[in-house]
Amino acid sequence: MDNSGRCKVKDEFSCGLGDADGGRVNWDGCSAFEFSCTCCGECCRGRIDIRLNIEDLWLMARFMGLRDTADLSHKGLIREEPIEGGGLRYCVQFKQGWFKCCPFLENRLEDCGTLRGLCRLHPHSKPLVCLLAPMGREWDEHTGESRWFFQEPISGCPGVKSGAENYDPNAVIAELSGRLDRESHYYGVLAELQRMNAPDEVFREFHRMETRRSVDAHLEDWEIRLGIRTSG
Ligand code: SF4
Ligand code: SF4
Repeated sequence: MDNSGRCKVKDEFSCGLGDADGGRVNWDGCSAFEFSCTCCGECCRGRIDIRLNIEDLWLMARFMGLRDTADLSHKGLIREEPIEGGGLRYCVQFKQGWFKCCPFLENRLEDCGTLRGLCRLHPHSKPLVCLLAPMGREWDEHTGESRWFFQEPISGCPGVKSGAENYDPNAVIAELSGRLDRESHYYGVLAELQRMNAPDEVFREFHRMETRRSVDAHLEDWEIRLGIRTSG
């Protein structure tokens, strides 16, 4: 519990760009923010963890023309990340070397000398966390409810400024409702595997799926297998 008496949500069920502990402003459910991305690409460079859910992996694998999400590891595009409480999840593997950046970032130097960062996965194959930014959410494994917050993708993000056009979280959440629902199901399976103290190999098996299958079918299979499917 935190000081407010509310159960603290584990960070592995949190989806948001930026420093996990800093600069979060809880969203009241109705306010719009002044935000307009300038495509500077700074939040796709450096050392940033882009956490991926099972649908992100599936979309990325299909974008790359791969038959299986496991092939993303073989190509060095994703990496395993141990999670608190045991188990594994996946992140984008940023390019290392002198210019660290997301492998899906296309850097473009404009005639005016401005460096732009464009996402090759935008919009249909883009990870949910990147689509939501600067919004993020925490999913409560006990209640299944989401809590929303606003967070600068990076400190000093030029898109966060007074006078920028309004970013309406409700419109974004409505547009992404299908993907958010599937992410909730993904978190549900992840939480259950943790409760069972499943070995890492089971977490790997859960994150591995053929791209010809649907994400819904994959999640449904696992929910049935773990006995956590309550409807449908
Ligand atoms: S740092 Fe801000 S303005 Fe730049 S690409 Fe990221 S969200 Fe957009
Ligand atoms: S997936 Fe796209 S938006 Fe997300 S970090 Fe990579 S380049 Fe940036």
